[in-house]
Order: sequence, then C-alpha cells, then structure tokens
Amino acid sequence: MAGSRRTGDQGTTSTRSARTVRSPEEGTGPVASLWRTDAYRRLAEPLSGILGDKTAKALAGLGLRTVSDLMQHVPRRYLSGTETTDLGSIGPGEDVALVARVAQMETIARPGQRPRLQVVLTDGRGHLNVTFFGEPRHVKFWQLQLSKGVKGIFVGKVGEFRGELQMTHPNFVMLSETGRIVGWADEKRVAMVSHVTRGGLVGIYPATSKLPTWQIGECVDIVLDGLRGTPDPMPAPARARLDVMGLMDALEQVHHPGSLREVGAAERRLKADEALALQVTMAYRRLDASHSRALPVTVHADGLLARFDAALPFDLTEGQRQVSEQILSDIGRERPMQRLLQGEVGSGKTVVALRAMLAEVDSGRQAVLLAPTEVLASQHADSIRRMLGDLGAGRVLGAPDDATEVVLLTGSTPAARRREALAKIADGQAGIVIGTHALFSEQVGFAALGLVVVDEQHRFGVEQRAVLQERADQVPHLLVLTATPIPRSIAMTVFGDLEVSTLREIPAGRQPVQTTVVDVRAHPAWLDRAWERAREEVSAGRQVFVVCPRISGSEPDEGAGDGASPSASVTELAERLREGPLAGLRLGVLHGRLPASEKDEVMAGFAARELDVLVATTVIEVGVDVPNASMMIVMDADRFGISQLHQLRGRIGRGAYPGVCLLATAVDAGSVAAERLAAVASTRDGFELADLDLAQRREGDVLGAQQAGGKSTLRLLRVLDDAQLIADARELAEELVAGDPERSSGYLADLVTLTETRAAGEWLERS
Ligand code: ADP
Ligand code: MG
Repeated sequence: MAGSRRTGDQGTTSTRSARTVRSPEEGTGPVASLWRTDAYRRLAEPLSGILGDKTAKALAGLGLRTVSDLMQHVPRRYLSGTETTDLGSIGPGEDVALVARVAQMETIARPGQRPRLQVVLTDGRGHLNVTFFGEPRHVKFWQLQLSKGVKGIFVGKVGEFRGELQMTHPNFVMLSETGRIVGWADEKRVAMVSHVTRGGLVGIYPATSKLPTWQIGECVDIVLDGLRGTPDPMPAPARARLDVMGLMDALEQVHHPGSLREVGAAERRLKADEALALQVTMAYRRLDASHSRALPVTVHADGLLARFDAALPFDLTEGQRQVSEQILSDIGRERPMQRLLQGEVGSGKTVVALRAMLAEVDSGRQAVLLAPTEVLASQHADSIRRMLGDLGAGRVLGAPDDATEVVLLTGSTPAARRREALAKIADGQAGIVIGTHALFSEQVGFAALGLVVVDEQHRFGVEQRAVLQERADQVPHLLVLTATPIPRSIAMTVFGDLEVSTLREIPAGRQPVQTTVVDVRAHPAWLDRAWERAREEVSAGRQVFVVCPRISGSEPDEGAGDGASPSASVTELAERLREGPLAGLRLGVLHGRLPASEKDEVMAGFAARELDVLVATTVIEVGVDVPNASMMIVMDADRFGISQLHQLRGRIGRGAYPGVCLLATAVDAGSVAAERLAAVASTRDGFELADLDLAQRREGDVLGAQQAGGKSTLRLLRVLDDAQLIADARELAEELVAGDPERSSGYLADLVTLTETRAAGEWLERS
C-alpha cells in the first residue's frame, strides 16, 4: 500500500490493514501526506474516491468531503418500528421520515389517465394522504407491498394538494408487528432498515431534498464497510482514561444503534476525539510558548509606571491590583506571557493594561494596543494620552526626559502622518503604539516590541496574533482583553493556550443601570413615552444612545430569520426622530459604513457634548466611553444576542448618573427572544448572562462569529454539556504532550493536524 510506504520511515508501528480499499494514488496526495497514522489517513480520504464524483458532490453540498466528515454526520434523530409519528406535528415543505399505519388504500384508474394509488396513513388520530402514480405494473407492485392495517416507515417531502397535506412517492418499508420487513418501495432501500428487524433504530440524517436521508444512509454504510478493520487511533490507555469505547464500534453504533443508550455512548467517543484533538493542540501551543523567549521587564522605582500610579486620580480596586501584580510578574519572566484578561465593561481593564505597557516602556521597550475598530483605536489613543498627561507627551518642551510618545496608526491615517508614525515606531520614540489591523501591514517594524495588548479578542484571530508575534526577534508578551465574559468551559476549549485572569468587581462610583423591556406591540404608546424620556434626559444635560439593528432600509435584515417585519434602521429612524419625537435636539448618526474621518468626527462630537443623541448600529458596542451618556434605547432589541445587549448597555451608567436602558421589541411575550430580553433586564452579571447565551446559541456565535452560517469549529462537542469531558481531555492532553514533547507519536501529530486543518477558514482564524 502506498500509505504504508509513506509512513514506514517515520517509525509508526501501528498494524496497518492490508485491506485498504482505496487505490494507491489516493493515499499519496498532498493532503494525505499530512497524516501520519493509517487510521487518520483513512479518515481523511475524500469521499469521491469511495462513492464516486457525483455522490461526493451531492454530499459536499452538506459540507461533507471526507470519510471523517461523513462519519461525524450523525443522525439528528432515530426511528424505531415500534413508535408512531404524530401526524399533527408535520407541515408542508418538510422532509419527513415517519412511522404510520395504512388506514385506507385505493387504486384509481380513469380512462386515458395513468392509474393512481391513493393511500391514507394514520397515527391513530390524524391522517395523511399519500399518492403514487405510474405504469399500471408499478402501481400494482406498490399496492401489493402496502397493506391496510400495516405499519411502515415513510420518507419523503410533505406537500399540499387541494388544501390538504400529502406525500407523493415516499420511500417506504412496511413492518410486521414484530418488526419484520413485509414490504418495500424499492428493494435497494431495504438494507437501510433491515436493521429495524433486529430491534434497532433507523437514523434520520440531516438531509436535503436532493440528497434524502435514505441515500445518506447508504453512503454511510458503504463507507463504514470500507473502514472495517481500521485500527483505533486512540491508544487503549487513553480510551480507558476518558472512559470511551473503540472508534469503529462507536461509528457502527451511532449510525446503527440498537437503542438510544448506545447512541449516547457512541457519541461520547466521538466527542472525546474532538475534545482530545483540541486539547492536544492547545497543550503543544503552550509547550511551544514555554520554549520561546521573551524579554523580561524590570520595574523601576521612579519610572513612568511609578509616576503614573502616583498621579492616578483613583485607587485601583483589589481585583485590578491583583491582576496587575500577576501581569507584571508574568512579563518579568523570560517566558512570553499569554494571558487573557476578562472583565465586565468598565471593570478597568484598560488601566491594568496600561500599567503593563508602561513597565515595558520603562524597560526600554514598546507596547502595542490593538483595537478592533478605528473608532475604538482613536478613543484608546485619546484616553491613554489623557491618562498619561505629559508622561506620554514625547519629546516636547517641558515634558519629562523619559516621557514616551503615544502613536496612533490605522488604515485611514493620512500618508504623511503614517510615515511619521512608522518612523517613530521604528526608532523606538513611540513607546506606545495604538492601532487596528493596519499594524499588521508589512512596513511596520518595531524597534523593540515587548508587549502586545489585544482589546476584544474575538475580533482578532489566533493567526493574526501569531503574525504579530513573529514580527519580533524575541516573542513579545501577549495580553488579551475581553469584555465578553467567557465561561470557563469556553476559555478552556478555545483559548486553551491562554491563562485567564478575571476582574469581577466594578470600580466604585459605577452607577446602576435600570433595564426595562418595552413591549411596543402590546403598548405602542410606550415608545412615545420613551422618546419623551429621552428628551427629559437631554434637558437634564445628559446624552442618549439609540441603537438600531440595521444601517439603512435597503440592506437585508440580519438575524430576522423568521420573516418578521423589517427592523429599525439608523438612517430612517434618525430622519423620523429629527422630524418628530426628537425634533430640535442635536442628533448624530454613526455606523460602520461612514468614512473613518466622519466616524471619528461624530464620536468626537458626541464625546464633546455637541450632540445630544447618537443614533447608531452596534459600532458603539465595544469600548465607547462617554460618561455623560445616561440613556440607551435599543430598537428591535430581540434582533440582538444576550452578550451583545449586555455590551451595548455597558455604554451607559459610566459617569455620575444612573443609567436607563430600554429594550424596545415587538416579539411575542413568552417567545425565546422575549425570554432573552427578560434575562438581560433581570441581571447585570455578565457571567450569568454569558452562560445563558451559551445555552441558547451555538458556541461560535457566542464568540463573535455572528455572520449568518458562521460555523463553529466544534462539531459534536458542546462546551456547556460536555464541560467535564473537556476537562478530562485537557488533563490527559497535558500528560500525553509532556510524554512526547518532540511530537514523535503519529497519533498526537495527527490530532494537531486535524484541529488545524479544521480551524482553517473557520472562526478561530476569523477577524
Ligand atoms: P474597561 O476597559 O474594562 O471597560 P476601563 O479601563 O476603560 O474599563 O475603565 C472604565 C472607566 O473607569 C475609565 O474611565 C477608568 O478611568 C475608570 N476606572 C478604572 N479603574 C478605576 C478605579 N479603580 N476606580 C475608579 N475608576 C476607575
Ligand atoms: Mg475597554
């Protein structure tokens, strides 16, 4: 076998099956050569070689390209011949697989027309019409296979005919009371359900109308057959540790279970593979990081940091003090820090980060602060310059000799300023560099980059982090700030290469924010009241945010999903407010499509109180700091996720005034969306909300891959439900990696490759 030859020199000793079904060429492609063990090579095989190009193409439509993809395409539910489907629960347009009994059957033959077999199915209460047309001999065949009073499994698309639900030409298998197959639509389909005769379950796969569950099941069977005899890649001791069954048994059982309990056990094995692959990858990353060298800082008694502390107008909270100590001790080592600092909006992360940056500057190095947007980058630059005062004024008359300079570099920095900034970054004059993605551009060279601070992690991918780290001769320390509270399970899964610190306290002086859900459907007048309330805030000298889900009416309604009425848009609402309820107030508009200069102008205007009301999209979600803003009205609040609303709300109550947050919505009370809003209104605890969010949505969404269809890297694994398994896998991964730091085990190397190829293009790398 080609595959064996390729790995022979790598010392892999697993027994390789001589019955590999593929042609030799299959195993020698560039992709196959990534894989070091026979098992993984077989799992990574493209489906086209096994099932043919046409079928492979159809499967690719479901995102299934390799053997392993198909094997992990597990049934979304299972049918047994003993249950009956509730016919009242199906609707037109659905692809269904149902168990029902034949109540009536009649052949209708009119002269000049093809004969028709009209069948009525029943679940004991409701009915469903089923029709077959065709040649007389075919109709005769179906009539013989179906018998009145007998139960069968019917699979097909539900349609409508003359106002009634109906299925045309479903596939079916008829079962006796003991589960024996006594009839079928197509002999070929029988293998699929012959399993039922042994008391087993039939898996119903996520399917499309072009590729029905039957066909997927057939493909699964062919592929499963071909895999038989493949050795289990996971070594027996590891299986025992995670308490999981063999891979081949698991695949057999998840696709052809005897009982639902078997499904659970089989899925556990597949989840364990996923968890272990992720954790082994993270463990190697941690190991690599521990080998790379960073420049340690030394804290100077009379440096910028010390003078900054002395001038700070407030006391650090206990949490800030502890985390700061931890970070200073981290960056005082030769090993690069890899730390995630999470804390509520307003918990004072920026101050903590700035202290670390100053310690770098005191040690003759530079620090970078990366922000997700230009607005945020320039806000950071302003507030950091303000906080530093003349310590950050650079080489100007009157500034201290050791004053550093804060430089801002974004995509819209004009050429001349950009050149100047680049020069200052290159010669080290700029001790603190603040910017966006523009900092990744090739021309940016640092004199001595010591620390990278990334604000709002989930918008910067792992890859980008890596790029920036590679730029320096010595690996810089890394501090990631996030205001999205990350549950422990996620932190362990996704950010497993980072150590986590948390700021739980909100600094003293924080004002309460009263959040209220405004049901504008039941009480349209409440919205008018909300605008009046906004005017009151403005007359009291305060400012107001109004948040809409969309920029303009012409763009698609993100996240509407349910065909609901279109959501509020910034441009239209701003116009309406200007002419109506908020006439006479100074209104500004902010969204992502404005040119950067205009965005900055609007933000600056709002910050300077030249605007009373800011109508915006979620661009204000992160970081925007206007302490005088005391009120926020979120339009169509149901279009936003829990974490997003929580972030938005964090924009108010930042100053001396208590905040009012109104969540306007027209969704049904009692719907999931309404529950979400009620949850946001009921608590300000971001961690509690993050858990809730996670329970309601896919992990990928929680972490910011909010684009429609954004796929989570995780497949079967659910970070909340499987937290224990993930923790066990992490512990095991630590040991496996410690025992094989050189990656000589083909299995461990394959797990890393698996995670990395999977993550490619998915949200781990998303910006
Ligand atoms: P975060 O980045 O976590 O959202 P910031 O660091 O921007 O929070 O802090 C929010 C506001 O609180 C800033 O105006 C900051 O100056 C102020 N602040 C930070 N720490 C404290 C503290 N210990 N006491 C009082 N105010 C603080
Ligand atoms: Mg911040």
